[in-house]
This record gives sequence, structure tokens and C-alpha cells, in this order.
Amino acid sequence: MKLLDVLTEFGANGGVPGVRPLGSLADAATVLGPPRGSGRIDDQLPWPQWFQFGDLWVEICHCGVINRASLPTWHEEVCIPAEQTGKFHTVPSGITFTRLSTAFSAVGIAWRRISEHPQHPQHRQFAMETVVAGLPDVTVHFTFTADDGRGDAEALLHGVHATEHTHLCPQTPRDDT
Ligand SMILES: [Zn+2]
Repeated sequence: MKLLDVLTEFGANGGVPGVRPLGSLADAATVLGPPRGSGRIDDQLPWPQWFQFGDLWVEICHCGVINRASLPTWHEEVCIPAEQTGKFHTVPSGITFTRLSTAFSAVGIAWRRISEHPQHPQHRQFAMETVVAGLPDVTVHFTFTADDGRGDAEALLHGVHATEHTHLCPQTPRDDT
């Protein structure tokens, strides 16, 4: 997959095949292979935990449900799933707002800008949001950074986060009672 393909998948479907909010960790591992790392999000709590597949980060509750899927793109390179199941490759990042919004429009993904932070002109960020068809409780946010005097059109993609807002973990007995 190319990075633009991965981002377009995120925009349309909330993630890549195997990884999207409300999916399962088991599905992710089936498609992407074993995670290359994992850990607690809060040291004091056994769950939620993060799992990393290439540079894809997923947050999992104790049910094994994916609550959030993220791909940071602010490094110069990003490790994304390749065409072959369980394989990854590293590609250059540097996707601009114009390039991504043009790619979305080309395949019919509706998007809108959702935030401005003019109080930090040296680290100006804004975001775009897409709506995932069939998953109204999942939001996908693409954040952009317009540093170094870049105009909005040339702002660089900082990362994408797909988050579900509907899953409630069933009550479980506490370990300490
Ligand atoms: Zn849960």
C-alpha cells in the first residue's frame, strides 16, 4: 500500500484492513501479524493497552475491542502495511493538506475542517474530519501542522486518529476486592 492509500482507507473506513475502531485485536493480528510492541496506557491500570503494528497504534480495552486506531505521520518516514498480509514497508511521509484533500475528493470521501488554533501561530494546527460510512459512532480526524510559515495548502499531515464513541465495557469484578 502507498501512504495515500492507507490515509484514504482511514478516511473512508476508519482504518486499514484488520484495524479499525470497534474491530478486535484478534482480527488485527490475523491480518497484520503479531504486534511489534504493546504496553499499558496508564501504568496504574491493566487496561486499556496499546499495541503497535508497524507505525499503526491501536488502543484496546479489556474486552479486546479496538477503541482507537492511530497513524502518526510527523516523522520523515512511516511504516505501513504492505500488500502482502503481515508485511510492512517504510515510506516517506510529508503529505500536504492539498494532496490529501484532493485524494479524498477524487474518491468521493466527504470531509470538513474542524478546528483552528490561532493562539499558537508558530505551531499552527488544524484538522479535517471524515465520516465513516456505516459507523456513525466512529470519528476520523486528520491533524495538520503549518509551521515555518507554510500556508494551509502546504500544511503537513501530523497524524490520523480514528476513535469510537459507543463501546461500553461490561462491568467486571475488581481484582482488589
Ligand atoms: Zn471494552
